[in-house]
Amino acid sequence: MSARISNTPALRFEVTARDGDARTGLLKTRRGVIETPVFMPVGTAGTVKAIRFEELESTDLDAKIILGNTYHLWLRPGIETIKACGGLHRFIGWERALLTDSGGFQVWSLGDLRKISEEGTQFRSHVDGSLRFLSPEVSMEVQAALGSDIVMVFDECAPGDASHEVTEKSVGLTARWAKRSREAFDQLQLADADEGRVEPDELSGDQALFGIVQGASHLDLRKESLDRTVEIGFDGYAIGGLSVGEEKSTMYEVLGDLAPRMPADQPRYLMGVGTPEDLVEAVARGVDMFDCVLPTRNGRTGQAFTSTGKINIKNARWMHDTRPLDESCLCKVCRRHTRSYVRHLYLAGEMLASILLTHHNLAFFLDTMRGVRQSIRSGDFPKFRQEFTGRLSANGE
Ligand SMILES: [Zn+2]
Repeated sequence: MSARISNTPALRFEVTARDGDARTGLLKTRRGVIETPVFMPVGTAGTVKAIRFEELESTDLDAKIILGNTYHLWLRPGIETIKACGGLHRFIGWERALLTDSGGFQVWSLGDLRKISEEGTQFRSHVDGSLRFLSPEVSMEVQAALGSDIVMVFDECAPGDASHEVTEKSVGLTARWAKRSREAFDQLQLADADEGRVEPDELSGDQALFGIVQGASHLDLRKESLDRTVEIGFDGYAIGGLSVGEEKSTMYEVLGDLAPRMPADQPRYLMGVGTPEDLVEAVARGVDMFDCVLPTRNGRTGQAFTSTGKINIKNARWMHDTRPLDESCLCKVCRRHTRSYVRHLYLAGEMLASILLTHHNLAFFLDTMRGVRQSIRSGDFPKFRQEFTGRLSANGE
């Protein structure tokens, strides 16, 4: 009997420790076991910008899973190129786990440049200006060709301050698109369209599919969206549409209400969030997985995340500072280089500035999650949370 018609799951998730609503877990994917809570570096166009895969795999960082962006890869280089190489893992040279988003958020972010209908979203490519159409079916087809290990459904995001009426329509559309995503995804698995298939022990070898809960800041609609998503049935559940313009206190309120209602025995993924403080606060509310461009993007604009808060390396106050970017960080950059040197590189427009800041920032985010996991396992998470948040304001930048 084929694995695909048996009941073998595409991934397994086991909660290993709890401290309040915070939890640690083991997420078994077809490309390795991931300890949660986990931070996933963002590899938009098949590259985590300014860092090599060897560094992401090194013990310094040890990222177990990274993200790829369906929208960007679909437009360039296009799926034919990636299929010809045998899927995204082989195309980019990364054998660990990959999660791809659906492109829904990117096309939504295009604002006036896109037109949303029941069928899907029409927009102009930022690469060549051509008219393109993304729908649940197209997104599933592209993600199967990419062969990512975790696939996201195609959803519609409402702005953070959207009215109840607007959000209700958006939640309805997201539910109908989730159902179409599920059906298209299942057909593609049966048709062997998945370019990333492997034959692991105890798992089906198929791609896993996550549903996405929307509903802006309306708790009743969040709950409705959750119910409708769980009813369809997915391997994990994501929270979308946060950190899109709403107040931070609103985001924490939504998370506090929503995350503990999500299926306890499945992974919970907060999409596109956030600052180190946001990560710790979301873990406290029961979230297991995160991705965000902050450590990489802000690294390229001269910002370092440290245990005592953010620093802008271009500031004159670091000119003669012989300390590392973060005195409590043990990453390769902090072991070797001073703030003074990194500042010089940045001001001189040297590409190494981006490389060093990106490396350190990713180390800081990944180390924070290691600290979070350790504290949950030892029952010290409330203390960790309080001390971590308290220290972050020390630099005062
Ligand atoms: Zn460092």
